[in-house]
Amino acid sequence: MGYDIERFVGYVNEGLLCSICRDVLESPLQAPCEHAFCTSCIHGWLVHHHNCPEDRQILDISTLRPLFRYMRNDLNRLQIRCKNREHGCEMVCSLESIDRHERECEYSQIPCSNAGCPVQVERRNLEAHLTVCEYRSRECPNGCGYTILCADDAQHNCIAELRTELELLRSKMVCRVEEVRHEIESRLDSQRRHMVQKESLLQNEIEELKCQVSRLTSDVRSLMAAQRQHRQELEQAELEKREFMELLKNLQMENRSGAGDGTNRKPGSSRPLARLESIKRKPREVTII
Ligand SMILES: [Zn+2]
Ligand SMILES: [Zn+2]
Ligand SMILES: [Zn+2]
Ligand SMILES: [Zn+2]
Ligand SMILES: [Zn+2]
Repeated sequence: MGYDIERFVGYVNEGLLCSICRDVLESPLQAPCEHAFCTSCIHGWLVHHHNCPEDRQILDISTLRPLFRYMRNDLNRLQIRCKNREHGCEMVCSLESIDRHERECEYSQIPCSNAGCPVQVERRNLEAHLTVCEYRSRECPNGCGYTILCADDAQHNCIAELRTELELLRSKMVCRVEEVRHEIESRLDSQRRHMVQKESLLQNEIEELKCQVSRLTSDVRSLMAAQRQHRQELEQAELEKREFMELLKNLQMENRSGAGDGTNRKPGSSRPLARLESIKRKPREVTII
């Protein structure tokens, strides 16, 4: 929507009016056919139409351009009255600077700055309103640290306020303590579970090691037994060897003495040979480790 033409002082060129709202252009855009419109007016029109509202030529939103510079200058130089004229503002200024004025105009209606206050006042009257506003507040003069609305001034009780606050803090603290305890317990629990697991693993390893030790012990024991037997066998063999040597010596001596006459043979002379035979026949025990 454009600016009401009644607000302007002096002549306004027909070319600076919006073809849609017939007011003076506000944030203008221009179609390729050179017709100009307020941005909000032409955007609203193009929702349901696809042409220029003035001459019905086909028009697409993407072809809209800013106004020619000379027209923009003409527009900006127009003299306009403040929108708060009916409230007493006598300001007349260029269209270019009217927004800035109206933002700061002493006759503009503004909301009271106190939170919750529904009152709207002219900017120039705000200060007077604030001194009587029901929503004005101040820090408690007794030093409890609360900000109190002046309307509640009589009901304010420092002790009651502080007690409520204390209760709130206490319940918050209890909650926090509970949380921390829960957290610690769950952490301990998981550590305990971990330890139990570890312990059972170690137990298994110990059992395994025990088995290995007992296997090794029995191996050592059988090795020792084998060694003992081996030694006995060696001793036996040594003994037999000595006996054998003895016999051999005897035989040689007999042969030498009986070489003269083959008839002079003692009946007991066959004994060493028999003994030799028995040694030969005796099976050898072999221990394989
Ligand atoms: Zn318009
Ligand atoms: Zn047109
Ligand atoms: Zn004003
Ligand atoms: Zn107020
Ligand atoms: Zn207080």
